[in-house]
Amino acid sequence: MTSESNDLPSGSTKPDFILLALFQSRLRERSLYLGEVIRSQRRRLRPSEPLDDVALGESDATLEHLRLAEEALAAVQQAEERIGRGRYGLCDDCHEPIGWDELLQAPEQTVCRGCSQFGELDGSRLRS
Ligand SMILES: [Zn+2]
Repeated sequence: MTSESNDLPSGSTKPDFILLALFQSRLRERSLYLGEVIRSQRRRLRPSEPLDDVALGESDATLEHLRLAEEALAAVQQAEERIGRGRYGLCDDCHEPIGWDELLQAPEQTVCRGCSQFGELDGSRLRS
């Protein structure tokens, strides 16, 4: 159930106070949710006896799920930290503001749509 409209200003560089508060509360919710997911996946990964093939396959899926949840949580925490530093909503790669529509879909993202597509193509997001 989404109540927000999509006609938010997408060109403004300074995040609006109310929008920031909205993103902040979304990030908060998301980090609570992800924390819960991670705890429950970890519980499932503690088998007390040898696994059969089915259980092994399931545990691979659980591991993958856990990895994704941990990555997502790290991104959420980074975004919260950025709000604290007043750097929220700026692309890591090109330093341009990320569109509000994109942030509404995924408030934890740190690169704009253009850069994340580029990164996926040339693998630059994997460089450390
Ligand atoms: Zn960018």
